Order: sequence, then C-alpha cells, then structure tokens
Amino acid sequence: MARRKLISPKEKTRAQALFALFQETYPEVRCTLDFRSPLQLLIMTILAAQCTDARVNVVCRDLFKKYRGARDFAEAAPGELENDIRSCGFFNQKARSIRESCRMLLEHYDGRVPGSMDDLLRLPGVGRKIANAVLGECFHVPGVIVDTHCRRVSNRLGFTRHQDPAKIEQDLMALWPQEHWTIYSHYMVFHGRALCTARAPKCAACPAAALCPWPGKAKKKPA
Ligand code: SF4
Repeated sequence: MARRKLISPKEKTRAQALFALFQETYPEVRCTLDFRSPLQLLIMTILAAQCTDARVNVVCRDLFKKYRGARDFAEAAPGELENDIRSCGFFNQKARSIRESCRMLLEHYDGRVPGSMDDLLRLPGVGRKIANAVLGECFHVPGVIVDTHCRRVSNRLGFTRHQDPAKIEQDLMALWPQEHWTIYSHYMVFHGRALCTARAPKCAACPAAALCPWPGKAKKKPA
C-alpha cells in the first residue's frame, strides 16, 4: 500500500507539468527489453541487473532460441547456462536465480509466470523491481520500477529524498495515480539515458530544467 503523504497543490501541479513534458518529449516510450512472454521478461530482468538492456537484448536473441520454456532453463546442464549468459555479468548468480526460479515455476505454477506480487517475490532472485516490471508489462498491474535511472532522476526532480528503493517506490506511488506508475518508470529510463545522465547531465538542453530543483543544475550552466 502506498504511504499516504501530503503533497502540496503547488507540488502536484509541478509534477503534472513534468509528466506532460515527458509525454511530449518521449512519445515512443516503452520497456526497452525485447520480450515476447512473461517468462522472457522475467529472465531478461534478472539478466539486466548491473547490465545494459541493449546487451541483454543481444544475449537473449540466441538464448531464447535455445531455451524455450521454464523446463529448458530449470534443466540446463551445469555450466552451460552460465556460459550462455556470461557477457551479462554476475553470470553464476544470475544462472542460479534463473534455474531456481524456473524450478519453482514448474513445481508451483505449471511452468507459467504468476501475475501477483506475492507469488513473484517468492521466486529466487526476484525483488520488487523485477516483479513490478513483469506485472506492469505483462499483467497490466501498475507498479513503480525503481532502477538506477528512476532513483537518480526522481531525486534530482525532487520527487523523493531517499536512496532506498522501497522508500522511493512508496514516495512515487503516493505522488502519481496508479495508471502512471509503470510508464513513469519508463520515462525515468529514457530521460536518464538521454539527458539526466549520472555524470554530466545535460541540463542546458533539458526541457524539464525550468521545473527541476536539482541544486547541481545551476553549476552545470555555462557562466
Ligand atoms: S535539469 Fe538537469 S538534473 Fe534536472 S532533470 Fe534535467 S538533466 Fe536532470
């Protein structure tokens, strides 16, 4: 449940203006993982930890030709799955999460990805970020996906003062209506990649600059 937090009318208006601006700036916004089923998205979001979506998309083109269902992943020979996902990094840990999650899917969910937060969180290696991505994209259950872009950009925009993903999620859930939760998360990824980058954000070119309170912004402006 979203923590009820009092948001001033002025802050609400600013947030709505920023949302409209993101809608205008990123009309093509979408999940940037190329998946075709809830299982594929689940695997891809596990692989995407500490890795780029572009790399995951490349790796998964071949991966999903070889592993077509939960059983293929669950029964992958020791070392083989690890080798197939090696270039995504942390491959031992990710292979373990994928294998064990797929075993659990076979045991408890008939090999299918469940569509509830509680069930998804039971899967090894699946936290709220992954669960919200799967729920939002595959089951039309809105959720805020707090990744590195969402954390950084939401802080700079003043929508949260937290670094802890659970607290950020609560702040953003309280700020936005449910139907915005998933797409707001995608806007954060697009904006975080295009302009509000971790290092040297391009504030001078940012359409949100007039509404952005980030103190570092002024320092980035030319003298
Ligand atoms: S003005 Fe700068 S800090 Fe603010 S959202 Fe734009 S790029 Fe990010």
